Amino acid sequence: MKLLFEKSKKNRPGTRFTSSFESDRPGLAQKYFRSSLDLPELSEPEVMRHYTALSKQNIGVDNAFYPLGSCTMKYNPRINEQTSRFEGFASSHPLFDASLVQGNLALMVHLADALSAITGLPGITLAPAAGAHGELTGLMIMKKYFTDKGEKRTKIIAPDSSHGTNPASASMCGFTTISLKSNKDGMVDISALRELMDKDVAGLMMTNPNTLGVFDKNIEEITRIIHEAGGLVYGDGANANALLGKTLFSKMGFDIIHLNLHKTFSTPHGGGGPGAGPVAVTETLKEFLPGPLPVKNSGTYSFQMPKKSIGRIRSFFGNFGVLVRAYTYICSLGRDGLSAVSDHAVLNAEYVKALLKDYYHIAYDSPTKHEFVLDDTGLPNGVTTMDIAKRLLDYGFHPPTVYFPLIVHGALMIEPTETESKETLEEFADALIAIRQEAATNPDMVKNAPHTTPVFRLDEVMAARKPDLCYTVQQKG
Ligand SMILES: *Cc1c(COP(=O)(O)O)cnc(C)c1O
Repeated sequence: MKLLFEKSKKNRPGTRFTSSFESDRPGLAQKYFRSSLDLPELSEPEVMRHYTALSKQNIGVDNAFYPLGSCTMKYNPRINEQTSRFEGFASSHPLFDASLVQGNLALMVHLADALSAITGLPGITLAPAAGAHGELTGLMIMKKYFTDKGEKRTKIIAPDSSHGTNPASASMCGFTTISLKSNKDGMVDISALRELMDKDVAGLMMTNPNTLGVFDKNIEEITRIIHEAGGLVYGDGANANALLGKTLFSKMGFDIIHLNLHKTFSTPHGGGGPGAGPVAVTETLKEFLPGPLPVKNSGTYSFQMPKKSIGRIRSFFGNFGVLVRAYTYICSLGRDGLSAVSDHAVLNAEYVKALLKDYYHIAYDSPTKHEFVLDDTGLPNGVTTMDIAKRLLDYGFHPPTVYFPLIVHGALMIEPTETESKETLEEFADALIAIRQEAATNPDMVKNAPHTTPVFRLDEVMAARKPDLCYTVQQKG
């Protein structure tokens, strides 16, 4: 595809000052005209077609199945977009006085109430901008809780199946992370946990079901062990899609959790767009929440700073537009609808796993929840997990998460989500089965994939670390 700069034709600008603008302000346009910028000059339809064509170069959740494990890439219902564009929401400014945005504050209070009902935890902040930000917020609350009690605890335990953000957040918060090994079923090794537990441990960070899609059935015992030693349990709620309406984080013994609205509650992610990682806490920890929190007092909404608050963790009140979308999703499904989300998310994962199990090796093959993990055992001719992921693009599917969780060799982590039809799941399984056969009979086809995408194999590390943003300039030079 040509770049805008290459398509540009001198003196074909897409905008023009009206003659009245020129006559009212003689010489002004010329004065501020910056020839040094050398912007591309194209008509409006050319620009529109260029960007529409660019948008079609990618595979996204709106044009293909996107079974990305751990990250719950579910379809984002368009009704969310509609409500978030309501004028009262879209054109309010965060500096407006509370009296002018009562509806917005009401929405935040209602959403917090809904998340409290979903998690069983009474204290909610909507401010964190992502799951990882929620983790940091939760750990800051944990830290302040112990400081307030006059205890100095320095360690956080996290299972070896945990998401990389868990130890990263702990270390950003000044804790030392201790890795806890999983047992052969992919669950927490209880005796290893008992051994690690001491008075220096502030708490455990745990994902349940974990990143293997395995629900740790010893969760009550695990949280009891931590609590008996005076610690707190942080729940990474990124996998809440498997739990909605089934159980409560409070029942499992979690003290602090985050939810990813951009995962479980169908707000968009990707493209660097904003997310939200609300944090929920127990009654005891409420006073440490970041603020200001939206509250309702005798019919009026306002803001309040909790007594021992960790302070502000985000400008204004978080990503408000995302909160509107999540609230819309929750209201449009209701209690039964949310519970059905989990039923279908789990059923779909189990179905795809059953279709694939004669062709791929399944890691930790116990009943899984909303996701499961294949490994690279038995792949022929030196074909790797990455080759299989790349070849899926030729079949029109976004590849699943690869090489995570780290405890699975050559992991391919599949999360179909609840929104996909039986036919889509079968087509996806058929593609993976066909690729497995190609790996045996025509390995080069798989190893050199993708063959049909606008760009072929990228150096992924370089593409992430040093994106070639100067491409246009180099081309011109
Ligand atoms: C996605 C994810 C996170 C991090 O959430 P972000 O919103 O991407 O910051 C943490 N833990 C798990 C298990 C996740 O899947």
